[in-house]
Amino acid sequence: MSAALSIESLKTQAQGLSFRNQAFIGGQFADAASGKTFDCVSPVDGKVLTAVAAGEAEDVDRAVKAARAAFEDGRWSRQHPAKRKKVLQRWADLIEEHATELALLETLDMGKPIGDSARIDIPAVANCIRWYGEAIDKIYDEVAPTGDNAVAMMLREPLGVIGAVVPWNFPLLMAAWKMGPALATGNSMVIKPAEQSPLTVIRAAELAVEAGLPEGVLNVVPGFGETAGQALGRHMDVDAIAFTGSGEVGKLFMKYSGESNMKRVSLECGGKTPNIVMADAPDLDAAATAAAWAIFFNQGEVCNAGSRLLVEESVKDELLERIMKVGQQMRIGDPLDPATQMGAMVDDTQMERVLGYIEKGQSEGARLAMGGERVMAETGGYYIAPTVFDNVKNDMTIAQEEIFGPVLSTISFSDPEEAVRIGNDTIYGLAAAVWTSDINKAHKAAKALRSGVVWVNCFDAGEMSTPFGGFKQSGFGRDKSLHAMDKYTEVKTVWIELH
Ligand code: NAD
Repeated sequence: MSAALSIESLKTQAQGLSFRNQAFIGGQFADAASGKTFDCVSPVDGKVLTAVAAGEAEDVDRAVKAARAAFEDGRWSRQHPAKRKKVLQRWADLIEEHATELALLETLDMGKPIGDSARIDIPAVANCIRWYGEAIDKIYDEVAPTGDNAVAMMLREPLGVIGAVVPWNFPLLMAAWKMGPALATGNSMVIKPAEQSPLTVIRAAELAVEAGLPEGVLNVVPGFGETAGQALGRHMDVDAIAFTGSGEVGKLFMKYSGESNMKRVSLECGGKTPNIVMADAPDLDAAATAAAWAIFFNQGEVCNAGSRLLVEESVKDELLERIMKVGQQMRIGDPLDPATQMGAMVDDTQMERVLGYIEKGQSEGARLAMGGERVMAETGGYYIAPTVFDNVKNDMTIAQEEIFGPVLSTISFSDPEEAVRIGNDTIYGLAAAVWTSDINKAHKAAKALRSGVVWVNCFDAGEMSTPFGGFKQSGFGRDKSLHAMDKYTEVKTVWIELH
């Protein structure tokens, strides 16, 4: 997005958008076999954007058949790596060329600020696809150390048909984290976007075909979880499910797999990230700013949001004051305004859920120090003020359950061991952060925290080269980095006896 774009010009462009609202199967747009649709409501103002095809089992089956046919005839799976690389790179270019359109779709569909969609989400999507494209012709298989009488090769082969089921908080980016490595390794795919946010994934799949991805390799079936999502999870000809979403639904995918064809399952589920600030943090202002963004960015609808602030007793009041100052200055407003920093919650259900947690926090005895209410109700959209709780105990509901909203729970501790113990006292293990100037404390905490990533003196840092995923009930399998490719490949040993 050019920095010069004004809210007026963005609104004009938004009005001119055409929505791709059908399933995308075998390279063609298609209505649901049942003819059913569902309303795609914008949380910006509560108005219907378009009616989207409500795919069900029959549509999923068609998409899986298209994906299987594409996989078996080798139009992608056996194409030369250098050619596949070019296609993904061209696709990344097209995503960049259509960045404003995609950013507008993302913002209208799920309510995040246009500045975030345009400067974070869509560039990250293009970067992800390009990164995996570049990797395609640079990864080698292995040869085992055998004796002279044999050659044993360990070959990585694509699994076949990958089903990807993704959430609504970073709709296209979460899909890209699956599409990049799954397509780079030669698989075909069927994606089911979240019913709250189907628009960008459908459009991106169309752009993939324009970039040269053979028809049928990437299919999209919009629809509800219990119908389309479950049908994909139970399909006998899907080789793997890559899921991002809640733990509750993640567990269902393991059940679907066990009750169908034992398809591989990888899960990226929720989190309750402890952001641990010790009294010797190198820069309390930096820690405060990071702590505020850690929970208010993307309206708190982030799986690794720093939702539990663990702070050493002696600096608690000072830190909290600074965090609240950042929160109070945060511009909550029209998501189409480039100056907006916090937009709308994805839908009214999520808004009510978050408000319910805020009530629960108060009834369980936490002190509401800031926010706590719906704002901008006159717009018809679903906005919640940045909210901070103090005096939270780690066994309270707001400290244990994933709220997925802009709600910070502050818990104090008196020594580093206690901080780590509280940090680990959760069913989740997606991420953790530690702020300290003492390298010994930093290393000890980083080793002891049970999570997929530990940030030291920063929050949410990472690049495509670093894996992302959970310990414990945050799931298993990794997105991003070369490690993600493991989820979409099998190792085949070929042993050749020499005579
Ligand atoms: P969700 O689990 O409700 O939905 C995720 C997807 O699963 C959607 O596409 C939905 O339609 C589908 N689904 C729902 N019920 C289903 C069913 N019965 N059978 C099959 N599919 C079904 O999650 P959400 O509310 O969309 O997203 C929020 C959750 O996602 C949070 O828990 C968040 O932490 C998690 N998340 C995790 C990561 C990560 O990388 N770890 C990233 C983003 C979001």
